Amino acid sequence: MNTSISLIPQNVVDHLRELHALTGNAAGSQRLAWTGTWGTARDWLRQKLEQLPVEIEVDEAANTWATLKGASPKALVMGSHIDSVANGGWLDGCLGVVTALEVLRHLAAQGVPPVTVRLVNWADEEGARFGRSLFGASAVSGNFDPDELRKLTDKEGVRLVDAVAKFGVDLDRAKEAGRQLKNTAAYLELHIEQGPVLESLNMPLGAVLGTLGVERHKITFTGQTAHAGSTPMEMRRDALAAAARLELEIREIAKRHGGVCTMGGVFTRPGIVTAVVGQCDALLDQRHLDAPTLARMLQEAKEASQRFAQEEKVDVEWQRLWQIDPIFFHPDLVALCEESIRETCGVVHRLPSGPLHDAAEVARAGVPTVMMFAQSLYGLSHTKEEDTREEHLLFAVEAFDRLAAKTIDWILKH
Ligand SMILES: [Zn+2]
Repeated sequence: MNTSISLIPQNVVDHLRELHALTGNAAGSQRLAWTGTWGTARDWLRQKLEQLPVEIEVDEAANTWATLKGASPKALVMGSHIDSVANGGWLDGCLGVVTALEVLRHLAAQGVPPVTVRLVNWADEEGARFGRSLFGASAVSGNFDPDELRKLTDKEGVRLVDAVAKFGVDLDRAKEAGRQLKNTAAYLELHIEQGPVLESLNMPLGAVLGTLGVERHKITFTGQTAHAGSTPMEMRRDALAAAARLELEIREIAKRHGGVCTMGGVFTRPGIVTAVVGQCDALLDQRHLDAPTLARMLQEAKEASQRFAQEEKVDVEWQRLWQIDPIFFHPDLVALCEESIRETCGVVHRLPSGPLHDAAEVARAGVPTVMMFAQSLYGLSHTKEEDTREEHLLFAVEAFDRLAAKTIDWILKH
């Protein structure tokens, strides 16, 4: 590896291309966690790390850590994930890992840093195979229930417990990886935005305020299945009609409160062309950065569902599927992130993250955290069309390196 004492942003672009050539194909990136290709990507990373004066360790949850010992045991941690969804993009996750690698190389080339600096490659951020995201990061933060995970299988029927065992993970011991956070004074993560906001504002990079709180519910409307030919319109108890009205209403609720609401699935029974829908299950996802506003959006959706149910003469029942509070990144680090971006490209935008990230788990564990976003072209991710302009990738590496240096100073003062 290059021993230049200067940062070489181009190294990151070259490494990303090398990794993509090794683990992607015409359909996109294929670094699905707990598969051989993911193993290939991890080995590739290890080979790069072995060229640096770092200690490499794989923890009980299959996260890879590289430690550059500093004068102080207090540690700055930088990282992201190298796994991808099937047919994924070439930047999601690995941009953050490969940038951390270059910043680590840059710091190591300058001698012993004043604080310890570590790189982490989180295991299975995507949850694309077993439906459970943030595997490695949640094992470290402690939001990890082995009994829940033991039930999971992929679509071929392979059990998660067997797939992870091939990579040395015992679910009952995975939480022991939590010791990795000891001495961690700050966590930084660079990621592509995966949405259209920065591009629409013509901003190369953004400072991330935190991750949105999420309320996920299944709403069941129950009416009466009846013959499509013999039942007059005014005598129907159509469960789908109430769900359809709610789907339009949640868009108004989202607009009113500046959040996002999505009805991502609607399942009707009996689901045949000759019957009025007797039962309809609707899946609702609501997100906001402000907890009280998120609670109000949920309340308004519930009230609307009751109103529509009454008007359509059907019953309605709500079941919570999942919930997470908004997570705020550290205000000092958000400010340093903005400063680093402004110094690099002259302009900066602050924005929340709609998707969850490994950084959210680290912040939940109480570690001062911030993320930086690089603009995504066309707002696309989780597809081979995912891309970012090369000049923006180079800006991102430079800004992230600045942020690491500023964060080291911040750690020394705290
Ligand atoms: Zn990602």
